[in-house]
Amino acid sequence: MKINQRLFDHYGIDTNKDLKIKNLCPRPKDTILIDKQGSCYACECQSWLPQSIGNLQIKSLQEIIGSDMHRHLQSSITDGTYRYCNEHQCSYIKSDAVLHGQPDRIQHLRLAIDDSCNLRCPSCRKGMVFHKEGSAYNLGIRLADRINDWLHSYEHPIQVHIGSDGDPFASHVYRHFMEQTPERHNIKYSILTNGLMFKEFHGKVPYVINNLQELGVSIDGASKETYEKLRLGGKWEKILEGLECMAEQKQKHGFRFILHFVVQKDNYHEMEDIIHLGKRYGADRVWLNKMEDWNVFDNFDQMNIFSPEHPLHNDYQSRLEQVKSYLGFEKDPIVEVPTLNSDR
Ligand code: SF4
Ligand code: SF4
Repeated sequence: MKINQRLFDHYGIDTNKDLKIKNLCPRPKDTILIDKQGSCYACECQSWLPQSIGNLQIKSLQEIIGSDMHRHLQSSITDGTYRYCNEHQCSYIKSDAVLHGQPDRIQHLRLAIDDSCNLRCPSCRKGMVFHKEGSAYNLGIRLADRINDWLHSYEHPIQVHIGSDGDPFASHVYRHFMEQTPERHNIKYSILTNGLMFKEFHGKVPYVINNLQELGVSIDGASKETYEKLRLGGKWEKILEGLECMAEQKQKHGFRFILHFVVQKDNYHEMEDIIHLGKRYGADRVWLNKMEDWNVFDNFDQMNIFSPEHPLHNDYQSRLEQVKSYLGFEKDPIVEVPTLNSDR
């Protein structure tokens, strides 16, 4: 068993560090993330804990869970060093809010097995990615089937998260997964979508919708102009229709309904408007998060309003103070700003 040192070097992770964290992060015990190559990770984000614990193309999930590498990564949490964790990116470490708990079985399955999307947002990708046939599609379908096989026999409560890489309703791989997923009461779902195809497709995956615990919608604009600039390929009128349909479904099924707004140079002036939009459509929460540098932009410094050197930084700060007033004074605050509060 050997860790892939080059990977850790790539992310600038010092594997000899000792963060001396007292809380025991539950993720390496309760979470498996599966990427589009079938590699499995013991964390909610691949770049936070980049060592694979096994590949689903070669091994079954039964073999991967509890493997030597899996247990080795778990021991880096229990000894408090967190030496394999990416302290530059993990939101919990960055906000000094590492969770605490050591569940004895997997409770979250995070699928990142297809990056197909109907949009091409500038913060995410440089061009269209869509697999309807060919090797990426075939592999995605094989992975989806292997995951469903495992779910068929898993007895314990588990939440399956769909859509951290592409759009669950646009992707033919995720649609296949959702159509074939077993009808079992121990399985709940959470979906992150751009929301544009929800109205059209939610009726085709009734079991997932009936057992949906959380529906997140990424919507980085609160006006037609900003939305269509940042969600390239999306139409404002269509997302409003989608939000209306989601609000109706929420009434019917009772899932948590969350809007995600990635704050950046072109939309920070709409932070308050997105909160009002969330209220209008009955959202339980509106999450405002800082745009991170995913190496998609050639000119991230020009976009980085979070840096005190940026000419728009002061304006951003004063608008953020305004938004924060919703946190403290509203009777029913729905806004969360976890990473906007962090200086790192
Ligand atoms: S501390 Fe962060 S990076 Fe480490 S296992 Fe937990 S969530 Fe993952
Ligand atoms: S909707 Fe989400 S997955 Fe699709 S391109 Fe935009 S950010 Fe990426």
